[in-house]
Amino acid sequence: MELKELQQIGKEIGFFKIEALDTAKIRLLPEVRQMCSTDKCHMYGRNWSCPPACGTLEECGADIAGYTRGIIVQTKGELEDEFDGEGMMETEALHKEHFVEMHDRLKKEFPKLLSLGAGCCTRCAKCSYPDAPCRFPEKRFSSMEAYGMLVTQVCQDNGIEYYYGPGTITYTSCFFLE
Ligand code: SF4
Repeated sequence: MELKELQQIGKEIGFFKIEALDTAKIRLLPEVRQMCSTDKCHMYGRNWSCPPACGTLEECGADIAGYTRGIIVQTKGELEDEFDGEGMMETEALHKEHFVEMHDRLKKEFPKLLSLGAGCCTRCAKCSYPDAPCRFPEKRFSSMEAYGMLVTQVCQDNGIEYYYGPGTITYTSCFFLE
């Protein structure tokens, strides 16, 4: 499937931007995992898709090794002002919807698809971690940060903006295709 076709699907789903991901430039950084362990997002050690349950940085590196092709996608929202928390949460939820729909569409074309989103896995209302195994290992998704990616850096390496200026909020995810 050509990039143009992937962009068409992404646009139909609602993404603002869909570009090729240069998998050779991806770096997994211990500093990003370090940020996870400070638990600012309150998900560290609470979800199978987040550290430490998602695996060591080396294991995450092994997961993405061998992929030669991917795409990076964004959802952009408008904010009333910089304190518009509701607008931020709405855009985040919208991005998650787009992400899950794109994952389900791409999975049919790319059986080895690896999808890395923005934020932890929210397939279940409450994650079963750590009391029981993950309910949907095939559908579980981790965040780019959980895999040690600095999202600003990944955007820069792929020639796209991370931030589109005052009054906007943007969420970024990526799909490793084949
Ligand atoms: S699929 Fe459910 S149990 Fe598995 S990581 Fe996601 S939220 Fe947790």
